[in-house]
Amino acid sequence: MAQIHCRKCDKDSDPITDNLFMGKLEAEVKEKVCQTCWNEWAGPGGTKTMVINEYQLNLGDESARATLKTQMRTFLKMDDTETEFKDYRH
Ligand SMILES: [Zn+2]
Repeated sequence: MAQIHCRKCDKDSDPITDNLFMGKLEAEVKEKVCQTCWNEWAGPGGTKTMVINEYQLNLGDESARATLKTQMRTFLKMDDTETEFKDYRH
């Protein structure tokens, strides 16, 4: 399978092969983020879990899902911004 250039790690790497069930966003994630970095976000004990706990997000709420999406985009460097992801583990 062709490699993609991952924005998060800034390397050419293997694309995500999982089905993410993210609708429109899925194609964008798969174009910009490699499997390894995705695992850092969504894998067991990953950053996504940390964000949900930190913000006490109830994913039944639309606003909570929007917050999570913003955090994801920042963490995975999907947007061309200077914003640095705040790592709450430190
Ligand atoms: Zn990567």
